[in-house]
Amino acid sequence: VSSVFGAIGTSIFEAMSRLAVETDAINLGQGFPEGLEPQEVVEAAIEALRAGPHQYPPMLGLPALRQAVAANTRRFLDIEVDWEQEVLVTSGATEALSDAFFGLIEPGDEVILFEPVYDSYATIIRRAGGVPVPVRLDPPRWELPADRIEKAVTRRTRAIVLNTPWNPTGRIVGDEELRFLADLLLKHDLVAISDEVYEHLVFDGRRHRTLFALPEVRNRVVRIGSAGKTFSVTGWKVGYVTADRRLLAPIARAHQFITFTTPPALQAAVAFGLNQPDRYFDGLRATLAERRDLLVGGLRAAGFKVAGVEATYFALVELGDLDPNGDDFAFCQRITREAGVAAVPISSFYGNRDVRSHVRFCFAKRRETLEEAVRRLAAWR
Ligand code: PMP
Ligand code: GLN
Repeated sequence: VSSVFGAIGTSIFEAMSRLAVETDAINLGQGFPEGLEPQEVVEAAIEALRAGPHQYPPMLGLPALRQAVAANTRRFLDIEVDWEQEVLVTSGATEALSDAFFGLIEPGDEVILFEPVYDSYATIIRRAGGVPVPVRLDPPRWELPADRIEKAVTRRTRAIVLNTPWNPTGRIVGDEELRFLADLLLKHDLVAISDEVYEHLVFDGRRHRTLFALPEVRNRVVRIGSAGKTFSVTGWKVGYVTADRRLLAPIARAHQFITFTTPPALQAAVAFGLNQPDRYFDGLRATLAERRDLLVGGLRAAGFKVAGVEATYFALVELGDLDPNGDDFAFCQRITREAGVAAVPISSFYGNRDVRSHVRFCFAKRRETLEEAVRRLAAWR
């Protein structure tokens, strides 16, 4: 498995999923939901596919979906967005991130990332000629360290990348931290790429918060969402970018040369999904909170040290003395083979792979799957 700051290698998600298939293990490694797809959204896709058209949709995305993204931003975040000039549809958040990096970063530009960091950012920033500059966060609170961030800024810094709600920490970045980042953007003339794919997966009455909602930096923030997470259809690969038109334009130009468009029937179905009443979004949160409690509660009862989860569908388990060598990757391989449950090591979210403190389990699964996974891990332990 490659370092997130090295040449392009095998992603940990691919590596662990492959091992899970080979060993017929329950796959709680790579994050993807099981049995949570809303049937009415799937039906909307089937209907749209029957009806066509089947040719390239508009480069920026179907108007219906761009309008739905804007309407959602108003409904859930109280932010006005011009759907014609400020929304771009992409083939997943992964493409949106690549478009943003290729569109906004010039060779030599530095981009500040917060570790533990999602593995696609640094790889693509590098290929775009940029220089990823990691800043580390410390468990158990994973708060943004203002002093370390200030120190990481240089004359070459162009952007910061933020992921909130945060994979793999399961936390929501707080108002004060966002305030600090907003000031940083203004002070050093930076832009922020804000990966908010888990925006709707927030629990216990918490609210998603975004830099994009702070008026003084509204024109410096690229907000990225994903239908994969919001509708539990990760295979669909429909994402969306929202940004001021001056920021969106270069991102859309990059999109022309990466995928150009995204399957129109899936766009139509996602538009239908985003227009669902609040109860759909509330229901998703409630179901995931229940699954979280099942996994976290079950693992704790079995003696594992599991951190609380505010948001996302990931839970972090402390490695402690679970592995004789303190090797989180070896531990993940061992439980996959021996217990029949796959997880993901936190070291793959660090450029130097030197932090091995936790392993990540995905709880967006059927009840029976989680119960069986807990049984296996308890018996193994
Ligand atoms: N960002 C983060 C933080 C993620 O966890 C994921 C994961 N799946 C993505 C981006 C990619 O989303 P998509 O599947 O829409 O490409
Ligand atoms: N985002 C998912 C995760 O963190 C996986 C996406 C992928 O396989 N690249 O597990």
